[in-house]
Amino acid sequence: MAKIKQSEFEDEEKLLSPTIVINKKYTMIHIPIKNEIEDITPIKERMKKEHIKVCGIAFSNSDNFAICVVIDENRKFVKAKFIKGGKQYQKKTQMILNEIKKHRQKGEKFGEKNHKKYWEKLNHISDYYSHKVSKEIVDFCKENEVEVISITDMNEDINKNFTKSVGRYSPIYLRRRIVKYLEYKAFKSSIIITRIRKNYTASKCYICRGNIKRKNLEFECENGHKGDYFFNSAMNIAIMCLKKFGK
Ligand SMILES: [Zn+2]
Repeated sequence: MAKIKQSEFEDEEKLLSPTIVINKKYTMIHIPIKNEIEDITPIKERMKKEHIKVCGIAFSNSDNFAICVVIDENRKFVKAKFIKGGKQYQKKTQMILNEIKKHRQKGEKFGEKNHKKYWEKLNHISDYYSHKVSKEIVDFCKENEVEVISITDMNEDINKNFTKSVGRYSPIYLRRRIVKYLEYKAFKSSIIITRIRKNYTASKCYICRGNIKRKNLEFECENGHKGDYFFNSAMNIAIMCLKKFGK
């Protein structure tokens, strides 16, 4: 019989007494896991603290799945991390989509049995990257003592045009799943996620609020500030979180 050690679970998870479940075909052992979440202070209370670190996250359709920027309560920049893998993800999914396309070109219809394994593969790859990216975000936040993560509200993006313009199985398309896993992983690490409105986070300069122009992955504002386009967005997203809570 396989032994399960505490070390196979994350630090904050504790194993509880197992129960045996007897099914018609097999016997299973259920081991409940207890999560001890240290700090469950509501966000408003948390944001009142004298010292607080906020991580703004911008998602992109480039090789960077997520651009994370940590600032303190004075809007001072602390640290940034670009979470890569977007191109690799797109390449892997594209290969599978091409396989499906080949089958269809032979006249096979959607949903036939031999396509199932490809869709399962796509789902598996998407799941893998969503877990990987969300874990890297949370690890980065923990390293930098971040208590609040700020992201933009995504509701406006749920429409066909958005999917059409970015393509399915693109890095930005995966954002919803990344956020879903991020919510769960952040909560386990006592980090709260807040959503801010998207207004101007990508079109204004985080330094002077001037209008910006995008050139590929760079930006330049009307007052001459330059830099990474998504870094600018992530800074705005973090700053807007401080503003939202009166800082
Ligand atoms: Zn500027």
